[in-house]
Amino acid sequence: MLGKIAVILHPKQDKTRRIITYQSLYWRKNMHAQKLDTSITPATNSTNTAGLTSKDIQVLNAKYHDLSIEQRIQQLYHDFELEKIMLTSSFATTSAFLLHLFSRCAPQQVVSFIDTGFHFPETLVYKEKLTQLFHLNVIDIRAETWKHEHTLKDQTWKTDPDFCCSINKVEPLYAIKNDHHVWVSGLMSWQSDHRATLDIFEERNDIIKFYPLINVTKEQRDAYILKHNLPFHPLVKQGYQSIGCTHCTIPGEDRSGRWNNKPKTECGLHL
Ligand code: SF4
Repeated sequence: MLGKIAVILHPKQDKTRRIITYQSLYWRKNMHAQKLDTSITPATNSTNTAGLTSKDIQVLNAKYHDLSIEQRIQQLYHDFELEKIMLTSSFATTSAFLLHLFSRCAPQQVVSFIDTGFHFPETLVYKEKLTQLFHLNVIDIRAETWKHEHTLKDQTWKTDPDFCCSINKVEPLYAIKNDHHVWVSGLMSWQSDHRATLDIFEERNDIIKFYPLINVTKEQRDAYILKHNLPFHPLVKQGYQSIGCTHCTIPGEDRSGRWNNKPKTECGLHL
C-alpha cells in the first residue's frame, strides 16, 4: 500500500541534518490467484503478485526447461495474461538480442525503459534505432523529478551508488511492478556470479521473474546477433561490454566496467 512515510537520512546530509522524507513506494500485494494451466494450482498463501507457490514455480521451470528460447517466450503468453507481463530493457550492449526475439514472438509486448537521466547519449540513440527497427512499443519510466534532482546535485553515485540506484532505478520500477505478475529479463548466467544462480523462473521481491535466456551462452548469443545482423550498442566498438549510466560505466570486459573500483556489481533491480 502507498501511504507509509519513510524517512531517509542520507550520509552526506548528517551535518546539516537535512532530512529527506518521501512517501515510500510500498509493495502492494496482489493476492489474486492466477491460474496458469491445469497442472498449476493457484496459491492461497503466496506473497508474489501472481499468487504462485514454490511448487508452482518448480512446475514452470520443469515445463520450460527443454523448450527453445522462442518456445519459452510463446509459452509465456499461454500461461500469463499479456497485460500482466512486464518486459524491461536497458538498451545496453546487446539488448537487441532479447528485443528482437520478443518483436518476433510477442510483438504486442510493451517494453519498459528505466530512464535514470544519466544514460549515455549513444544509449538513447540506440534505443530509438531499435524501436524503429523492431517496431517496439517502448514506455519510459523515471524517478520523481525532485528525487532525481537530489541525486544529481548531491552526485550520489560517488558517495552512495546503492542509494542512487534505488532512487533512479529500483523505486520507479517498483511503482509498476505491482500491476504485473511476471517480469521478463534478459539476464544470462555467464554474466555474473549472482546470475549463475538463477533458474528460468524464480520469485524475487514479490514478483515472478522470467529469464528465458538464462542458459544461453555468450557464443550462442553472438551467433544469433550475427545471424540476424542485429546492431550492437554504438559504444561496443569503443571497448564497452556492459553499459549503464555515464557516471558508473567505463570500458571493460563483460561487467568489469560497471561501478569500477567499487564492490557493487548489480544495480539492485535483479537482487
Ligand atoms: S548506475 Fe550509477 S548513476 Fe546510474 S542510478 Fe546507479 S549509481 Fe546512479
